[in-house]
Amino acid sequence: MTQTRNAWTKSTCAYCGVGCGIEAQIKADGELSIRGDQSHPANFGNLCSKGLALGETVSHQGRLLHPSIDGIEQSWPTALDHVATQFSKTIEEFGPESVAFYVSGQLLTEDYYVANKLMKGFIGSGNIDTNSRLCMSSSVAGHKRAFGTDTVPGCYEDFDTAEMVIITGSNLAWCHPILFQRLKKQKEQRDNLFIVVIDPRETDTCSIADLHLAINPETDVQLFNGLLSYLVEHKKIDQQYIDAHSEGFASALASAQKDASSLEQMASALGINQDDLSSFYAHFANTEKTLTIYSQGVNQSMQGSNKVNSIINCHIATGRIGKPGMGPFSITGQPNAMGGREVGGLSNTLAAHMEFGDQQAHQAISDFWQTDNLATKPGLKAVDLFDAMHDGKIKAVWIIATNPVVSLPNSNKIIAALQKCPLVVVSDCIENTATAEYADVLLPAQGWSEKSGTVTNSERRISRQRRLLPSPGVAKADWWIISEVAKRMGFKEAFDYLHEGEIFTEFAKMTTLNNEDGQARDLNLIGLTQLDGKGYSRLKPQQWPVTELQTETVQQRFFANKQFFTPSKKVQFIAVSIDAKKQISEKTQSNYPMILNSGRIRDQWHTMTRTGLSSRLGAHITEPFVAIHPDDAVPLDIKEHNLVVVKNDKGSMLVRALLTKQQAPGQLFTPIHWNKQTAKSANVCNLANDDTDPLSGQPALKSSQVNIDKW
Ligand code: SF4
Repeated sequence: MTQTRNAWTKSTCAYCGVGCGIEAQIKADGELSIRGDQSHPANFGNLCSKGLALGETVSHQGRLLHPSIDGIEQSWPTALDHVATQFSKTIEEFGPESVAFYVSGQLLTEDYYVANKLMKGFIGSGNIDTNSRLCMSSSVAGHKRAFGTDTVPGCYEDFDTAEMVIITGSNLAWCHPILFQRLKKQKEQRDNLFIVVIDPRETDTCSIADLHLAINPETDVQLFNGLLSYLVEHKKIDQQYIDAHSEGFASALASAQKDASSLEQMASALGINQDDLSSFYAHFANTEKTLTIYSQGVNQSMQGSNKVNSIINCHIATGRIGKPGMGPFSITGQPNAMGGREVGGLSNTLAAHMEFGDQQAHQAISDFWQTDNLATKPGLKAVDLFDAMHDGKIKAVWIIATNPVVSLPNSNKIIAALQKCPLVVVSDCIENTATAEYADVLLPAQGWSEKSGTVTNSERRISRQRRLLPSPGVAKADWWIISEVAKRMGFKEAFDYLHEGEIFTEFAKMTTLNNEDGQARDLNLIGLTQLDGKGYSRLKPQQWPVTELQTETVQQRFFANKQFFTPSKKVQFIAVSIDAKKQISEKTQSNYPMILNSGRIRDQWHTMTRTGLSSRLGAHITEPFVAIHPDDAVPLDIKEHNLVVVKNDKGSMLVRALLTKQQAPGQLFTPIHWNKQTAKSANVCNLANDDTDPLSGQPALKSSQVNIDKW
């Protein structure tokens, strides 16, 4: 049901992992007015430029309107029959490991849940992975190693009470603006707040920093290992906490001390001033309420998981976890990366925070879904999945709400993989995406404001997205499309959903399946298990665990009770050390001496299919660029606005040069947004590094080795 004119309807922003609540009103001309939801605990009525412009981006321009097979328009029944038949045939001939789903943090939790249920529960393969692999999987791996489960311990309220905030690997000001504004307000109001930004670039986030550590790329583990050694040396650890509640301290410390040298040597290796390093360590040592916020600069690395654990180690050593104003805090990139992690959208998780290899969980899920075909081993992670497709092992793929040709690294290889795959099905809102060009079957999906369901933000808060407007053509909800294919594959009863509320309630019930010891899991939605029907439609933002249905805003932290989800119930230190081979790619440096970093700009989102429709947002930065330090530009005769070619052995891009001392010498930065559709020559994924973190499988998108020349 769409909403009536004049009423203000609560929903959630389409973009980043802050998960801001919005209110939308349909105007007389059918367009949307948008304002912040003052009652939403993520943003209290505030919205950034992208959120405020949501009404300007609701357009039918460029939308995929009808299903098609080989370019010929088809009815829904014909298209769904075709997809189901072709997947079934492929599985019959080549087995369940020959098919795959590649999904997205843009999906709603209900969509994600049915996709995971179909692939892992009924097709019997683990081959469903998500573009969240590119975004947060190193944090997931780090959380699981330390806490025994993928749990973000804190809540946004910690931003208001921390006395030291470390922002590392994140341009919070542009990528998570409402959290940045929240912190900025605190900085203006409190003299006792010390903010450190750790970033090779001098970004807008540095405007609120007391200290900016522009460390050399990929030296984060060394920085935090040095901190752990410093804390021990200066007797600033919480020995009682370590002894009573943790394991692995001695080996983590030994590893850290192996990497730690004198402050002078350490500062030199990190590429920063010794006094600054000393100041950072001393402030951490002496400030109890310390919060470490981190994002893609930490995760998108060949040693992303180790970076995450090097941060967590320092918080465990000081007992600063699960208490107000302190803890490690991973900020997610996409609106529902967290919801996807919850249901099991990553190929190496079974479902609802239950893992492969846990026999009791396997049996419980099999019983719950009433299937005897539940996958028994992890599937392929994103980069490996497309490699397997390239090698001819994946023979049918369904890509849902994502555009891997312009978001996965090494685009040319992704294109070759899709060309080799006998069946490529793409569900999307947009007609002419770079990936749609290689699809055999196109299925039109509803977009933000047309679909209804839930998302989970960075502080584990589940909020409703609501349907506001009718969808164009015959576009359908992703959960409906997936369920209809599942029914046609012979799984009618398991996918016979009437509406998304039924799916959410089933998912909530799944989170109540017991642990081996009969205790509740971290992801416990028992309070939401009665929500089908009207209860679901009235769901207010709730932070998990939801042990009872809350009517008031509740801020919850994990691990205040010092009980973790590891077998011993103790938190785990992880021994991590500098891996010289992973600090920079092993590929030859002489041909490609520059390190290319990439990321978001303030007013655009991913491939700009939505934000690109707003001229107001487009006015911020109008064209793609590569930022270069003047000292690197002068010998190459590169001047401001010159066209330059950035290239390596994977590909090249042609963009304008932006000369700035905010960029460190030897390093370049380019936005991720422009691509084959919006600026053919400027797709950074053409040359992005596809080396991955061995544990998380996350590609090292921020350290591609390239050279640059004037065009
Ligand atoms: Fe939307 Fe993120 Fe901006 Fe909030 S901070 S309005 S969720 S883009």
